[in-house]
Amino acid sequence: MSSEAVDHDAQVASVREAFEREFERFALFRGEGGADGLALAEAEGLLRELAELRTRHTSKKSPLAQLMKLVGRVPPDERAAFGQRVQAASADIAARLDEAHATLQAYVARLLLERERLDVTLPGRRPRRGHLHPITLMRQRIEDIFVSMGYTVEDGPEVETDFYNFTALNIPELHPARSPQDTFYTTDGLSLRSQTSTVQIHAMQRRRPPLRVIAPGRVFRRDTPDATHNPMFFQLEGLLVDRGITMEHLKGTLSEFVRRMFGPETRTRFRPSYFPFTEPSMEADYSCFKCGGEGCRLCKGSGWIELGGSGMVHPNVLRAVGVDPEEFSGFAFGLGIDRMCGLMYELDDIRLLFENDVRFLEQF
Ligand SMILES: [Zn+2]
Repeated sequence: MSSEAVDHDAQVASVREAFEREFERFALFRGEGGADGLALAEAEGLLRELAELRTRHTSKKSPLAQLMKLVGRVPPDERAAFGQRVQAASADIAARLDEAHATLQAYVARLLLERERLDVTLPGRRPRRGHLHPITLMRQRIEDIFVSMGYTVEDGPEVETDFYNFTALNIPELHPARSPQDTFYTTDGLSLRSQTSTVQIHAMQRRRPPLRVIAPGRVFRRDTPDATHNPMFFQLEGLLVDRGITMEHLKGTLSEFVRRMFGPETRTRFRPSYFPFTEPSMEADYSCFKCGGEGCRLCKGSGWIELGGSGMVHPNVLRAVGVDPEEFSGFAFGLGIDRMCGLMYELDDIRLLFENDVRFLEQF
């Protein structure tokens, strides 16, 4: 071999090496599954880079093309051998490029097909998942707070006897308190409960004191619907009965509740009131969560928002379920869930909560 032939061999080798160095990162992509695991964008990027690499190494200006031109100029006795080497290098490079390209191309096509298959169901076809009703969300939030304070959640029937709805709650027949709590009656003497306080009675009968329960639920009144009234609404009743329970426990519990509900800076205020089933009774207010007590439209300028009624369980209520008021005492409170919902979301009309208009409900 002449020195020139050695030179030519070295040139072929150097062209191959230059290709191999750049092609190394594509060498993995061989055969079916060779590109598995790549992201679509990644595979597409690799395809573009592979095309550039092909141009650099096989185009008319590539070192390989220069070698091919050289074939015609080498001495005839070396020409065939040299030509074969160049051809072999060229074929080899093309084959490797083709294989990587085919693997990546097939992979991209597969991903696109999969994506398209999923995409078809995307707009409008997928059933809307929806979410919980704002009242349910509010109820769960309140429940979480009381459960963390050791209360259990009780449920009770919505259709009640006179005993549970009135008599056991110290509201005997002809008592004036029956009038504002008037409800809907069935023909056989049953009625829709007008307050969740009925669950107090069920709970005390079911599990004897000491007990700590909350009872969220639907209640009914003979109210004409307007922006702030609805003949059906949601209340949450709380009841704690134990030995040695005083007003302090009640005030502490409600103060802690509003702090957890509306923020640690929330203050409480208690006003004397009257309920047949508690004695003494009081209304609890909390400082407005919007203005912090300064006075705003939400709290009607007063700085306070009414939480609900509360008080020490009336001895007659305890007696009605066979609990000795000398041994046990307790407190009870009631909150309006939808009223709280209406305030927190600043609804102008609480009837919106029950109209089931999706455009409204979607906002929560
Ligand atoms: Zn305010």
